[in-house]
Amino acid sequence: MSFKDFNLIEPILKALNTEGYTTPTPIQAQSIPIILKKRDLLGCAQTGTGKTAAFSIPILQLLYQDKQQHKEQKTIKTLILTPTRELAIQIAESIAAYGRHTGLKHLVIFGGVSQNPQTEALRKGVDILVATPGRLLDLMNQGFIKLDHLKILVLDEADRMLDMGFVHDVKRIIAKVPKQRQTLFFSATMPNEIQALADSILNNPERVEV
Ligand code: AMP
Repeated sequence: MSFKDFNLIEPILKALNTEGYTTPTPIQAQSIPIILKKRDLLGCAQTGTGKTAAFSIPILQLLYQDKQQHKEQKTIKTLILTPTRELAIQIAESIAAYGRHTGLKHLVIFGGVSQNPQTEALRKGVDILVATPGRLLDLMNQGFIKLDHLKILVLDEADRMLDMGFVHDVKRIIAKVPKQRQTLFFSATMPNEIQALADSILNNPERVEV
């Protein structure tokens, strides 16, 4: 199997070529077609499986195609929630790499640093926001971030977000995003609490396990 089998657009294939990716990993092979169909996804996968590309590549493609059709403004159309600053930075770097020819703008925000550069960057317009829950909620409550035009919500490492005590923040954020959206939910483990959270936010998801 090759990345060419997914009908990916040229700007993304070119970037994957630069990265030296030829063969999709199992999570990518399973997830990319589901996400491109705009279905919800429940993915049971650890870090190191290629999970980040599994959601980033099809998201970039969907947003790029949307942009070609609607010439939409730079409102936040995808939100990726992840538990730690390190993961947030890694995801943003992946999006920068795979999306380098798409013209889509992304931003990463996390706590423990001054919020000014983040709010300044937000003002310039962002298509894809990668965030840790606490800082995101802070900036939402101060009116710096509106998610009214959100189309795709990703919860990455959901079990770790719960372990780190972010469950209330995550639920507050989800309460403020449009109900009509595509949701991708990834977790390394699926204990009852995580399954319940997934059930409450996913709409008829396809399940992928690696
Ligand atoms: P992740 O699980 O998303 O953290 O990815 C783990 C590592 O695998 C990252 O360093 C990626 O750059 C790399 N990677 C992801 N997908 C592929 C692929 N299809 N071919 C080669 N390397 C990959």
